[in-house]
Amino acid sequence: MSAHVSAIIGADAYRPFVGPTGVPCVIAGFEPLDILLGLERILEQIKAGEAAVDNQYARVVKPGGNTKARAVMERFFFAAGGCAWRGLGVVPQSGLALKPEYSAYDAEIRYGIAVQRGNEPSGCLCGEVIKGKTRPPQCPMFGKRCTPDHPVGPCMVSSEGTCSAYFKYGGIHETV
Ligand code: SF4
Repeated sequence: MSAHVSAIIGADAYRPFVGPTGVPCVIAGFEPLDILLGLERILEQIKAGEAAVDNQYARVVKPGGNTKARAVMERFFFAAGGCAWRGLGVVPQSGLALKPEYSAYDAEIRYGIAVQRGNEPSGCLCGEVIKGKTRPPQCPMFGKRCTPDHPVGPCMVSSEGTCSAYFKYGGIHETV
């Protein structure tokens, strides 16, 4: 689970997704050892057939999150229904928007901007990559048309993107 989001919303926010019909859930930090530990813990849950919330980033993520930040969010934003997420499409009940009383600060309204809710570039498998259904080298553009210097899809743009990390650490040589 995302460490910076978890620091705000807290570990307890994931409890509805675990249990007998849920999925294993591990909160990990960004350092290499954090990531390794997170992977180990999630594999342990899978091996044991368990699905629990395992907070391995407790030095930052508290059970209830950052109550001050959550109060500020609740003051300015409201749940605005479905929102388009990179590679995932529209997820119901996932969007936040500024409350009407703060619309003067909403750039889309104030400046008449129509934000393009873009899809992934044609042929980009980012959605499948971030869901763990496809590995980056299985994308025909990986390491060819799509590289960190010339990214085609969002997973190749920043260094922590899955495709970019695969490219940097040798995944380009992997046989699929
Ligand atoms: S290699 Fe590029 S085009 Fe292919 S899935 Fe990754 S980001 Fe998308």
